Amino acid sequence: MEAMQQWVESLERRARFRLGSGRVADYIPALAEQDADRFGIAICTNQGEIYHAGEAQVPFSIQSIAKVLLLTLALRVQGDALWTRVGRNPSGMPFNSLTQLEAEGGKPRNPFINAGAIAVTDRLVGAFATPSKHLRDVARRLSGNSAIHIDDAVQASEWKHRSRNAAMAYLMKAFGHLDNEVDEVLTAYFACCALSMSCVDLARAFNFLAAEGHALSAGERFIAPDLARRINSLLFTCGMYDAAGDFAYRAGLPAKSGVGGGIVAIVPGRFSVCAWSPALDERGNSVAAQYALELLADDLGRWSGIIP
Ligand code: GLN
Repeated sequence: MEAMQQWVESLERRARFRLGSGRVADYIPALAEQDADRFGIAICTNQGEIYHAGEAQVPFSIQSIAKVLLLTLALRVQGDALWTRVGRNPSGMPFNSLTQLEAEGGKPRNPFINAGAIAVTDRLVGAFATPSKHLRDVARRLSGNSAIHIDDAVQASEWKHRSRNAAMAYLMKAFGHLDNEVDEVLTAYFACCALSMSCVDLARAFNFLAAEGHALSAGERFIAPDLARRINSLLFTCGMYDAAGDFAYRAGLPAKSGVGGGIVAIVPGRFSVCAWSPALDERGNSVAAQYALELLADDLGRWSGIIP
């Protein structure tokens, strides 16, 4: 539909005005080398149509966006037993904070902060021989792109600069909240964060959350509708870390960001979208990608007739 394509292009044009503010993630050298001025956006409708603009086909490091797939797989494997290891409330703290974890007995607030995702990964280490390869294969299946891979340089960089994430993992281990060896869990977690995917790949892969759990590109019911609804609720309350409330006010969409600059957002019943731009605000969320999603939500409310 031509109107849809024009809309996506207009989102790109307007979001580009925010390029130039924010800073590229520099906690690992592999990400610090990114060009701050890149921007891409892709929409995948529940009918399977793709509309994209800018550098939407350029793979980037998905980072924390992987936490959504980790959670989905862990819930498929473990069901509600997972919630004995991780909570479901917003943390109000930075994604890599340690203070709350100690204060709360080693149980992370939610699956989308680092400690929470590490606890979730621990469950997958017990369930799969190579959890990161399993997750990569799921990402390939859901996006219909068999070329998706784990970026070795990013993974090695994460490992080399792992002190903070290792501190979280050891703290959880000390509280008896990790079953597997810290090194094994961290290796799997970093490999998942180091997946390289484009906006188009991510919009396709996450469409199951817009489509009540049905994965159109894979031609399968990936999760039950009630689980999709619950994951969307967690994305809404916890997906943007300590900016979750602010982003909910601005865009009102379930969303997950990563320090690679990508943000996936869901318009339930209609479409999934991914926007990407590497420069981040002080909370680790992409400046231009957030703005693109805010514009998108604004337009949806204003002239929803044109948009499917
Ligand atoms: N790999 C990153 C880390 O562990 C993920 C953080 C993020 O994207 N917010 O620090």
